[in-house]
Amino acid sequence: ALALLLLFVKTLIVGLATDTYNCPLSKQDCTALVALELDGYLSFSNTADAARDFGSMRHEYPSAVLYPSSVKDIAAVVRTVYASPSNLTIAAKGSGHSIHGQAQALNGIVIEMSALRGIHVFPGAFGESPYVDAAGGELWIDVLRATLKMGLAPRSMTDYLYLSVGGTLSNAGVSGQAFRYGPQISNVNELEVVTGIGDIVTCSPFQNADLFFAVLGGLGQFGIITRARIILEAAPNKVKWIRALYSDFTVFTRDQEILMSQAQENSFDYIEGSVIVNSKDRHGWKSVPFEGQIINASLIPDTAGPVLYCLELTKNYHDHEVNTDDKKVSSLLEHLGHLPSLIFSTDVPYLDFLDRVHVGEERLRKLGLWDVPHPWMNLFIPKSRITDFDAWVFKKHLRDGINGPLLVYPLDRMKWDSRMSAVTPNEDIFYLVGLLRYASLSSAASVESLLNENKEVTEFCRAKGIGYKQYLPHYSTQEEWSRHFGFHWLKFVDRKLMFDPKAILSPGQRIFIRKK
Ligand code: FAD
Repeated sequence: ALALLLLFVKTLIVGLATDTYNCPLSKQDCTALVALELDGYLSFSNTADAARDFGSMRHEYPSAVLYPSSVKDIAAVVRTVYASPSNLTIAAKGSGHSIHGQAQALNGIVIEMSALRGIHVFPGAFGESPYVDAAGGELWIDVLRATLKMGLAPRSMTDYLYLSVGGTLSNAGVSGQAFRYGPQISNVNELEVVTGIGDIVTCSPFQNADLFFAVLGGLGQFGIITRARIILEAAPNKVKWIRALYSDFTVFTRDQEILMSQAQENSFDYIEGSVIVNSKDRHGWKSVPFEGQIINASLIPDTAGPVLYCLELTKNYHDHEVNTDDKKVSSLLEHLGHLPSLIFSTDVPYLDFLDRVHVGEERLRKLGLWDVPHPWMNLFIPKSRITDFDAWVFKKHLRDGINGPLLVYPLDRMKWDSRMSAVTPNEDIFYLVGLLRYASLSSAASVESLLNENKEVTEFCRAKGIGYKQYLPHYSTQEEWSRHFGFHWLKFVDRKLMFDPKAILSPGQRIFIRKK
C-alpha cells in the first residue's frame, strides 16, 4: 500500500512538473513522455511561441514544447517518439526566423533549442587552430561576443546575428564574407548530433562523415545539432565600410566579380550589393549614404534606368593601421566603375558592423514593422544568367522596389563542399538574390499579392531556362523537392532512411511524411 501511495505521489509530482494533465497527445504518448526523467522539462500548455516565426504567415501549434537542459533530454524524447506507433513528429526550433513554418510541428513536439546553452572558446595552441564549441541553440551574436573577448571571430557570418547556430547550419549561412570563406556550413570542423533514432553522434569530415555532411544544409532532416565546432580567425577591431552607387548592372557585377577573385590583400573582406529604386523613396538612393551624409542626386545621370545598384564593401583593420589601410583602400577603389563621386564611407567598430541589422530591427520594432508578415524569397542565380534576370526582374517586374532590401551579390561554388546537403546552381559563380520584403499592411490580400509576385519571378526563371535554386527553400510537394535537389535527391532520400527512417524530424519543411 505504501509503495502504491509513493508511486501515486511521484506521478502527481511529475505530472505537475510536466503539466501532464494538459497533455493533448494519446494516452500512450503522454504516459511515455511523462515517465522520462528529464533534466529540463516538457510543457503542454505554452505552445503559442512555437507556432510563430519571422514569416508570420503560418501558425501550427505543437502539442508539447521541450525545454532541454541536456543533450540526453533531446535524445530521450527523440527515442520515445521513435518508439511511438503514433504519427508524432519533432522540430528543433532555433530562433524561429524561418519564413514558412519550417521550425513548426503541427500536433508534435517543438524543442526550444535556446534552453540548452554553452559556448567554449579554444584560442588555439600547439599548432591547433582556434575554434569555438557552441550549443546548437546559441545565437551567433552571443558566439561572436564570446570569441571577441579573446580577439577572435568566426570567419563567415550572416547579415543578422540573432539567428541560432543550428538554424543557419541547417541551411547554409551566407553573407558578404562567404565569397572568400564559403558559407557558415563550410566553416565547421565537428558537430554533435542527435539523429532521428535518438543516437547521440559526434561527427566530422573524418568521423561519421556521412552524417556530418548530411546535416550541413540538411534542413533539419537528419538530426538535431546540439553542438558545433566553428573555425575562428583573428578579429580586427575596426572596419572601413563603403557604399558605391552604379547605374550600369554589367559594370556593377563586373566589379563584384573582380573583387571576389583577387587575393585578400588586394581586395575587401566583405562584398555585397543591392538593387535600389532610382528615386528618393525610403528604399531609393537616399538609403546609400551613411548617417550624417547626404547624396547629391544631380550626379545621377538622366540616362539611368528605374533602378540603381549599390556595391557594399568593407576592409578590416586594427586601430594602429589606420593610415596605411586608408591608402590601400583608396588605391583599390580607384579601379571601380561606380558613378563618379557617388561613393560613401565610414569607419565603425567591427562588432557594430557585424551587428548592423539589429539597429534596423530596433527601429522597425518601434514602428511596429518587425512583427508583420514577411513573404521573403531568396534565390541563387547562375552568373551566366544574372544579366537576363536583371533585365526582367530588377528593371521591369520589381522596378518599383519591394518595400524592403533587395540583395544581390556573388558567391563562389568552390567554397561549398558538394558532399553537404545544401544545393547550389551548377556554375562556379552564382548570385544570391534576396527579396527581403515586409508586408506593412498585414491584410491577407497584400501578403498574397507579394507571394504571387515571388512566384512570377520563379516562373520567369523556369520559362527562360534559368537554373536557379531557392535558398532557404519552401516547397510543399515531393515533386518540387526532388526538382530542387536535382541529382542530389536520391542521396537526400537515402540519408533520410539512414538517419531519420521514420521521418520524425523537421516536419515543417514538408519534405517527408512521418512513417509509423
Ligand atoms: P529556425 O527558424 O528556428 O529553424 C530553421 C530550420 O532549421 C527548421 O527546419 C528547424 O527545425 C531547423 N533547426 C533549427 N535548429 C536546429 C538544430 N539545432 N538542429 C537541426 N535543425 C535545426 N540567412 C543567411 O544565410 N544569411 C543572412 O544574412 C540571413 N539574414 C537573415 C535576417 C533575418 C532578419 C532573418 C529573419 C533571416 C535571415 N537569414 C539569413 C535566414 C536564416 O538563416 C534562416 O531563417 C535560419 O533558419 C534561421 O535560423 P533560426 O535559428 O531562426 O532557425
